[in-house]
Amino acid sequence: MREWRRGSARAAFGVAVDGVETGLGFEVPALLAGEQVRTSSTIASVDPSRPDRLVATSASCTAADADAAVAAAVAATPDWRRRPVQERAAVLFRAADWMRQRRDGLAALQCFEAGKPWDQADGDVGEAIDFCEYYGREALRLASGSATLVQSPPGEANRLTYQGKGVAVVISPWNFPLAIPCGMTVAALVAGNSVILKPAEQTPGVAWRLAEALVAGGVPPGVFQLLPGRGEDVGARLVAHPDVAVIAFTGSKAVGLHINQVASTPQDGQRHLKKVVCELGGKNALIIDADADPDQAVPAAAYSAFGYAGQKCSAASRLIVVDSVYDVVLERLVGCSRELIVGHPATAGVQVGPVIDAEAHERVRGYVERAPTHGRIALQREDVPEEGWFVGPTIVEVEDPQAPVASEEIFGPVLAVLRARDFDHAIELANATDYALTAGLFSRSPVHLERAASELRAGNVYLNRAITGAVVGRQPFGGYGMSGIGSKAGGPDYLLQFSDPRVSTENTLRQGFAPD
Ligand code: NAP
Ligand code: MG
Repeated sequence: MREWRRGSARAAFGVAVDGVETGLGFEVPALLAGEQVRTSSTIASVDPSRPDRLVATSASCTAADADAAVAAAVAATPDWRRRPVQERAAVLFRAADWMRQRRDGLAALQCFEAGKPWDQADGDVGEAIDFCEYYGREALRLASGSATLVQSPPGEANRLTYQGKGVAVVISPWNFPLAIPCGMTVAALVAGNSVILKPAEQTPGVAWRLAEALVAGGVPPGVFQLLPGRGEDVGARLVAHPDVAVIAFTGSKAVGLHINQVASTPQDGQRHLKKVVCELGGKNALIIDADADPDQAVPAAAYSAFGYAGQKCSAASRLIVVDSVYDVVLERLVGCSRELIVGHPATAGVQVGPVIDAEAHERVRGYVERAPTHGRIALQREDVPEEGWFVGPTIVEVEDPQAPVASEEIFGPVLAVLRARDFDHAIELANATDYALTAGLFSRSPVHLERAASELRAGNVYLNRAITGAVVGRQPFGGYGMSGIGSKAGGPDYLLQFSDPRVSTENTLRQGFAPD
């Protein structure tokens, strides 16, 4: 991560911001069978802080483009799958290099297209690079280690190998516009699949930069294709296509459930069951225990809830405070959140930017407006820029854990605070959701920390730290329950989801070899 306390880091990023700003309004083509393709209709990607400013004009692909891309991918797959894994991994390592060299520029674009403050944008780019490095090495590990995972008694040679499943479709959200599509894409590629990426319609510009990185890394035509467009259009066709073997989706619960359903129905001509990897939403709880240090817990809670305006799937959207410290924690949290700097994320020091688009703005504002019917508003910041899709950090005290503000994923800077009678009640409240993505506890009790690690219903449990900011290879990330099916992005099991394991068994008690 960039160290912003260094003047040189700030100066370099400032230069990158200026450079990106000058180049806004660029064109994003589709990448189909190695060709850059323009489409008759387009999508306008705008700056959520200044919606009258165009960031990029993107191609908008149709179902017919999806069919053409799948055909090209089918043709390109056998050669790619047969290549030595070292060659496939090398593409990832070169793409990582390409991104590393352009790191600040790639991050600065996210300030404009995704509304990410500097540190968050830098984190996203770092994560994309990490995914390339990590999955590249994971593929090498799987290829070299698998021989020893099965027994071969004398006279019998058993070999376990992993083969790409075929054509993979990757459908990504806008909130980690480089890291998430990159992670899903390169995992599928290195495992020997060809990939068609349908990025979120809000962030095609960043997706195009990923395409450039992979092309620069040497991905062959047809093995990676980019199809920007609308989910219900090109996305839906890709999901339903009989020649698609695996779908890697990150996004909302509603769309994820729908994709699962469609993918489970075989189409005419389909020769396989489709594998679906889904990473969905959350309603993540952070508990503050009676003996927690408020100096540690409060800033971490504010950061977890309001960093990137609450638009991380891992963000804290429920704060559960044990009764004896409730009043002091709430008072400090309100004070701390009042100080957060809200503004255009391209400006140094801004901590809270806008929400992504008009629809999100309306939805989040709706929760804020209805909040008084279910609770008491402890903070509602209105000192936000007038232009753009800004919602000020909002804190709502809630008694009923099933109130909408305390039970539905809002995906904005709105935090519900609940009072727990004691630690047991806090765990019970935290687990009262169908989602199971992230959760956390601040406590100085070893027993409570141990209980939280085992009892909190979440894929990622954080103890005495913020509940966002998973690092590839250190905190393999992903949920269960209604938060997804699939195994941990950035973890040792992830690549297996894109592979068909195969075993060959040879009887080696034979009568010599026949001559060629
Ligand atoms: P979304 O609305 O579900 O969209 C995700 C992607 O699905 C977009 O590319 C979208 O295209 C596409 N899509 C929509 N309808 C489709 C359909 N019928 N068939 C195929 N594709 C379709 O989610 P979002 O608003 O972009 O992202 C926010 C959500 O993602 C939140 O719920 C958040 O929690 C979740 N998320 C989860 C994780 C995780 O790791 N668990 C990480 C990040 C985000 P369009 O852009 O054209 O709509
Ligand atoms: Mg969408």
